[in-house]
This record gives sequence, structure tokens and C-alpha cells, in this order.
Amino acid sequence: MDLGIRGKWAVVCAASKGLGYSCAQALADEGVNIVINARGAPDLEAAAQRLKLRNPEGEVITVVGDITDSSIRQALVDAAPQVDILINNAGGPKPGNFREWTDQEWRAAIDTNMLAPIELIKSVIDSMAGRGFGRIINITSGAVKAPLDALGLSTSVRCGLTGFVAGLARQKDFASRNTTINNILPGAFKTERLENTFQVAAERSGKTVNAMAESRLATIPAGRFGDPAEFAALCAFLCSHQAAYVTGQNILIDGGAYPGIF
Ligand code: NAP
Repeated sequence: MDLGIRGKWAVVCAASKGLGYSCAQALADEGVNIVINARGAPDLEAAAQRLKLRNPEGEVITVVGDITDSSIRQALVDAAPQVDILINNAGGPKPGNFREWTDQEWRAAIDTNMLAPIELIKSVIDSMAGRGFGRIINITSGAVKAPLDALGLSTSVRCGLTGFVAGLARQKDFASRNTTINNILPGAFKTERLENTFQVAAERSGKTVNAMAESRLATIPAGRFGDPAEFAALCAFLCSHQAAYVTGQNILIDGGAYPGIF
């Protein structure tokens, strides 16, 4: 299927590795020009080179810096002649025990996983609607639907973003102008983040990292962790011409781990 987005411009936040990088790769494979961001310059440049190889005709621009910094967000938006596609992403708050989370850690989680995406949406959505094409994807978490106690920081602030998006996506100003906003909720995908989660859980419980991975696997009917390329294929579809009628949705991709009917 041709997704009909060749030549469009995408800003993909937090995209030197993991799910963000895979989304950038899937979009580059569709002929989309990419602006990618991460804090570490060497990994980001290496990611940009790999993307360039996949789409030699397209542009790949890097913006190094923390997505919570308003000047970095502005640089990301300014780097593209126009932003047709925005993929909001950032590192997740660290797992832990709620008794130990400080005021500063709560505020950092709000800045990173709620306010940074909201500010980016604010800066691009009116011009997307004005041009009659816009696709915004927020990478959130399966924990928004099925909370895990150790991920309370993540769940709480992502629910804030989810609530905001639920209202915004349904505004006629956007939905009637081919400008959609959807959230993708990953279950357990094979990335550095997942390994870190197992490490922290192992330290907390006194068990091994392998034991933590095995016990998580036991909760996934698919019997394996997700491949970031599978996540990215869903993301690319939601960014497509064909997905114009899908907006305001929270789409879980978790190998069947969520136990509910809806
Ligand atoms: P990852 O493998 O750790 O990759 C994170 C990427 O984001 C890296 O490129 C990192 O590069 C960049 N980054 C982190 N913080 C940033 C910031 N403040 N500003 C700019 N770039 C930043 O993580 P992932 O597994 O792909 O996860 C992506 C998101 O999905 C996270 O929010 C995570 O919590 C969520 N999630 C993941 C899973 C999973 O199973 N993997 C499940 C549920 C939710 P630098 O460090 O160089 O900045």
C-alpha cells in the first residue's frame, strides 16, 4: 500500500534509538523528509546516516537537545519548511516506589511526557489544519490503560496528555481539516528502555534481570516482546493519507497483554 505521504515533512522527537528511531525509519521508507531529535549527538548523527541511506532522495535534519527545552522544540519546528507529521516522544520517567518520588521528579515527568508534547502540538496544529493535512502521534504507554505500580509517574502524566488530546482531536477546527491526533500505547517492546525497566525491577526485588524479563513475558499472550519495527508500521499507517478518518484514538499494541474486551 502506498501511504501517500512521499515528500511530506515529519518531526520525530526522541528518535536516535528505540521506538522513536523506528518510527522515523518507517516514515523515511515512505519517502518522508525527517527532522529527528535526541540529547546525545553521536547516536543522533549515526541514526541520521542510517535514515539517509534508506531515503537518499529525502532530507534528514538533526536537532540535538532536550525536548523539554523550549528553544529545542522551536528549533525542531523551524528546521522543516512545514511540519506535516509530528511524532511526540521522549524518555519515560524512571520506575520506582511512589514513596521515593520527589516533587522535582514529578515536575520533570510532567514537563517531559505531558507539557513538551502539548507545546509542540500547539506550535504546529493550526498550520497543519490551514494546509488541510496533519498527522500527530503521541507515543504514550500501555500503562495508560492498565497501570503498573512501579510506573506511576509515567501513567499519571501520560493520562494528563491523553485527556488533553481526547478533547483537542475532536475539535471541528482540526478533525474537519484532515488533521488527526492519535496516541499509540506500546506494551513491551525490545528497546533499551525495556532493559532498564527490568534492571530497576531486579534491583528492587533482589531477583535477576532474566527472571524479571521471564515474568513479564509470561503476561504476553504473543509469547515475545514486540519488535520496534512493528510499532513503527502502525505509526506510519496512522500518518498515512488512508488514516484520515482515525482521530482521537488510543491504540494499544501489546501482543494481547491487555486483558479487557475493549
Ligand atoms: P529508548 O530505547 O530508551 O529510547 C529513547 C530515545 O529518546 C533515545 O533516542 C533518547 O536519546 C531519546 N530521549 C530520551 N529523553 C529525551 C529527551 N528528554 N529529549 C530528547 N530525546 C530524548 O526508549 P523506548 O523504549 O523507545 O521508549 C520510548 C517511549 O515509549 C518512552 O517514553 C517509554 O517510556 C515509552 N514506552 C516504551 C515501552 C517499551 O517497551 N519500550 C513500553 C511502554 C512505554 P538520548 O538519551 O540521547 O536523548
